[in-house]
Amino acid sequence: MKDFDNIKVTVIGAARSGIAAAQLFKSHGASVFVSEQNSSAQVKNALESLQPSGIGIEYGGHTDRVFDCAFMIISPGVPSNSPVVIEAQRRRIKVVSEIEAASWFCPAPIVAVTGSNGKTTTTTLIGEIFREAKLDNVVAGNIGTAFSGVVNTLTLNSTAILEVSSFQLDHIEMFHPKVSVLLNITPDHLDRYENSMEKYSASKARIFMNQSNDDVMIYNIDDEIVRKIVKSAKCKLLPFSINQKLNEGGYIVTTESGKQKLVIKINDEEIPLVEIGEMCIKGLHNIYNSLAAALASIVMGIRADKISHSIKQFKGVEHRLEFVRELNGVKYINDSKATNVDSVWYALDAINEPIILLLGGRDKGNDYSKLTELLKKKVKAIVAIGESAEKVYNELSGFKTVQIVTSMDEAVNAAAKFAVAGEVVLLSPACASFDWFDNYEHRGKVFKELVNKL
Ligand code: ADP
Repeated sequence: MKDFDNIKVTVIGAARSGIAAAQLFKSHGASVFVSEQNSSAQVKNALESLQPSGIGIEYGGHTDRVFDCAFMIISPGVPSNSPVVIEAQRRRIKVVSEIEAASWFCPAPIVAVTGSNGKTTTTTLIGEIFREAKLDNVVAGNIGTAFSGVVNTLTLNSTAILEVSSFQLDHIEMFHPKVSVLLNITPDHLDRYENSMEKYSASKARIFMNQSNDDVMIYNIDDEIVRKIVKSAKCKLLPFSINQKLNEGGYIVTTESGKQKLVIKINDEEIPLVEIGEMCIKGLHNIYNSLAAALASIVMGIRADKISHSIKQFKGVEHRLEFVRELNGVKYINDSKATNVDSVWYALDAINEPIILLLGGRDKGNDYSKLTELLKKKVKAIVAIGESAEKVYNELSGFKTVQIVTSMDEAVNAAAKFAVAGEVVLLSPACASFDWFDNYEHRGKVFKELVNKL
């Protein structure tokens, strides 16, 4: 007898997480039905591979069969306001996200990371620190491996390190991290929150809604919105800052020799970590990410020397301010994951050389005014790419040279022509990639290939 024997479960969405959730519930005895709106070859293959194990499938749309279930699990790609979710809720069917459903089987403590930017970098770094400390862990969630796909391998002695998006948080009920991390809240994906910052922030705040006295929430005290929403947390709060020394938390000190160092203060003890100059990853944003990762690791009992070593060694994640090559004294950097204005701000801030910036793509309602000062100070020219090239031209050509191009090939060549030795060509588009590419990884890969062919 298994815990979900004969319970009917519907999974909506047949991407990686949906497929993994279907398999997980099947392995626990449930009667599983997966329904997917698309009917691409990839979807068909993935779904048909489930059939031999007795999982029911449909694609190319959702029939009424989806509502014949005890509860519904939705993949992160399925918006809360999609008709199938709304209808399920109207019929009073419980709708949960994949990460919630997977957490029901998790015996291990959970470290959960959310925020508008920096989730993947911070989650990966925490995983590296656990690896360095030789502690059993899995890194999963929004980060490539679905939580459902690995939760069966966990024990009480492991740790689940999870990257959690606001879409996943929208449909949690019992998801309960031991340690949660809230990096920042800036406008992104507002289209899925009726253009309301309040609704988007409320969704991020759900990360700590089930945390209590014994749990810890690590948060960015420099971020005004974050500061406001953590007031409702019922667990221990540990802040981090790059602007101020704190009574408790993570911050920066200047040593006697004038070097800047990350430190953590906990239980009245100030623990020095790594010097900023010794870190491979650059930029203010990565100091935030490192402080957050360090705090999460120290709370989980990892020694400071292990943390410092890992931060020092960490090279960052592909497509995030990733160095591609240097040619004729010009450095080429791939920041294809910069899909909103805020991450471009941090990229520009992190680079000290004059920049030729590749900007544009599928615009999610960007307001470029936040970049004006840095564009004036640091950017020599802009190469406008993608669907929003004209918008970029119209908004920025008043004070910067902007050249519109019609392909990434043209963009790389135009940028290479603008650049002279000592300058940087930076792809940091502030937009989604779905106009010209399959996803941001594809955009970054094409950019790197073209740069390597120059
Ligand atoms: P996420 O998983 O939240 O999208 P990533 O770590 O993948 O975050 O980084 C996404 C983009 O945001 C990259 O361009 C990266 O350089 C930038 N970035 C990373 N950390 C931060 C941060 N703490 N604040 C602002 N921007 C950041």
